[in-house]
Amino acid sequence: MRLLLCNDDGIYAEGLRALEESLARFGDLFVVAPDREQSATSHAVTLSRPLRVEQVAPRRWTVDGTPTDCVLLAVNGLLRETRPDYVVSGINHGQNLADDVTYSGTVSAAMEGTLLGIPSIAVSLAGREPFDFSAAAEFAASLLDALAGRRLPRNTLLNVNVPPLPRELIKGARITRQGQRRYGDTIVEKLDPRGRKYYWIGGGEMDLVDCGEETDVGAIRSGMISVTPLHLDLTNYTSFDELAGLRLDWR
Ligand code: MN
Repeated sequence: MRLLLCNDDGIYAEGLRALEESLARFGDLFVVAPDREQSATSHAVTLSRPLRVEQVAPRRWTVDGTPTDCVLLAVNGLLRETRPDYVVSGINHGQNLADDVTYSGTVSAAMEGTLLGIPSIAVSLAGREPFDFSAAAEFAASLLDALAGRRLPRNTLLNVNVPPLPRELIKGARITRQGQRRYGDTIVEKLDPRGRKYYWIGGGEMDLVDCGEETDVGAIRSGMISVTPLHLDLTNYTSFDELAGLRLDWR
């Protein structure tokens, strides 16, 4: 099997190393990853400047772009002759739960893989420093084992989050749906040494809006690994009835 590995924490990230080690037994690993951290770059693609690619080892390249750039360059360029069987993105240094998904570079690399017709998985460790990636790395491998001979649902990627617990304390894994939460709308305003204002977005407490048992957030909170099938069609089909009465006859 040929696996394309990517991430958004950069080629030197420990989570990527852990993933490489655990997936090595599946066959040929190709790593195409950003040359520096690209967390929260979402599904951005670089169109306004050229991209530089550097081969740093056999089957290992860095790109001075986003995770999406990496997957596009890998599949349509570097690995053109050896199309990967899977794209695996991660292991992200931190969770990608609920609304995180829309900001996540890690998840977006898997989205790009899915758009290119390649089964794709995003893996995140839902903790903070110091990170221990061993359980998440092991689960990624066991998920690939479980998927052997099966197909992922159409236009669907798997978003995996692993609780920050030692292996023996993780209670299992389950399929979840995306929860919802809001980061506090905190904007921190400070003064720089030259007296000019600067701002930090976030840093506030989180409001959990939808975090029931069956959600990704709920699974992590109960010590379970969360596997959320994410669909690339963002249409809210259940809203069609509600919107049916909307007058759109603007002519
Ligand atoms: Mn990241």
